[in-house]
Amino acid sequence: MLFLAPSRVQLQTLKRTGVVVMATRGVADLAITLSGKPVISSGPGGRSSRTGRVATVFGANGFLGRYLVSKLAREGTVVMVPFREEMKKRFLKVTGDLGVVNFIEFDLRNMESVEESIKNSDIVYNLIGRNYQTKLFNFYDVNVESTRRIAETCVKYNVDRFVQVSSHDASPDSPSEFLRTKFEAEQVARSIFPGTTIVRPSPMVGGEDKLVRKIISFPNIVVNSGAQRIRPVHVMDVAKALHKIGFDDSTVGQTYELFGQKEYSLDYIRRMCEYEARVAYSQLNVPKAPYAWITERLNKIIWWPVGCADEVERMTIDQKVDKSAATFADLGMVPDKLEDYLGQYVRPWTGNLFQDVAPDSIQERKREREFIHVAR
Ligand code: NDP
Repeated sequence: MLFLAPSRVQLQTLKRTGVVVMATRGVADLAITLSGKPVISSGPGGRSSRTGRVATVFGANGFLGRYLVSKLAREGTVVMVPFREEMKKRFLKVTGDLGVVNFIEFDLRNMESVEESIKNSDIVYNLIGRNYQTKLFNFYDVNVESTRRIAETCVKYNVDRFVQVSSHDASPDSPSEFLRTKFEAEQVARSIFPGTTIVRPSPMVGGEDKLVRKIISFPNIVVNSGAQRIRPVHVMDVAKALHKIGFDDSTVGQTYELFGQKEYSLDYIRRMCEYEARVAYSQLNVPKAPYAWITERLNKIIWWPVGCADEVERMTIDQKVDKSAATFADLGMVPDKLEDYLGQYVRPWTGNLFQDVAPDSIQERKREREFIHVAR
């Protein structure tokens, strides 16, 4: 049953049959999802409109998750946010209109709470991930087991779309256990939910990232003199792509590699940060084996993140792009250039001599004029 412009009587019939109808200001559109469910969008678009869809975002309070929730909520997609820690998710509430962002306390090992998070949703995003192992969750638990539980629940509740966020360089032969389990999670997701869309982001740059934050922190410990080559991507681009993927059924069953326009060495990115902030950021180059040994031991003793041996291993792997995977171009997007957005994330740490530096080009002089009032 498809009403392109439903009449008042047709809308009332849908209401009686249990379909949630949200029609405001007489603007309403009906669409049929992959599983045959009708969804009705209403409103002219924007915060107080509704897309008629419900999305669950696992890992919503993380770095990438917050931007995805914001993109979904600001256009009126009802978002279910499974959370573990009360204080870590509160800021998400205001990203949407009243009733749009909803919190559900959950535990990956409590299936009732996982089901509660998923059962009313049309789209499920799994962004759960951790760079290091904890006493309660090892890489297998966080990457593979969580994916299995979420994918099985999606099948049980006939969810339309499942989007699994994996990682660049996920491979069964990787020397990193994190990357091997990320690959295994992709396979598990596809075997349970064949229409899973897999998204492999490059190292992401943004306000809460782990890349620039590490460079500007002290001590910035690196191995191999920061020679690792990566293709950083703007977190906003990845969030935008995830949002598009969730609403575009032609992406079902596809694998996307989302990487930035250019490849850089870590050391080059450090120098770009120095240029943007007018501050010298030192780095401490250490041999890999002892550094891995120490971080692995420290990770077991102290309770704040200090990395782990696997993370050190990943610092030596140059990023490789899977040519068979779809990219931003297949989503009709052009990723931002690192040179264009890096400054906005480094600027809060600008050196106090910033205003005294003589701009060395017309372009730079223009930028000084633009930003001098916000930088100081
Ligand atoms: P964050 O570390 O910022 O967020 C991870 C999220 O996963 C948090 O919401 C965290 O919840 C949740 N989580 C972790 N462990 C568990 C667990 N045992 N049970 C329940 N929830 C858990 O990650 P990012 O936002 O940076 O990354 C999102 C995804 O993208 C991850 O899968 C990551 O591996 C992948 N990725 C990230 C890259 C990057 O550069 N950041 C690059 C490539 C891939 P809580 O806050 O409660 O701990």
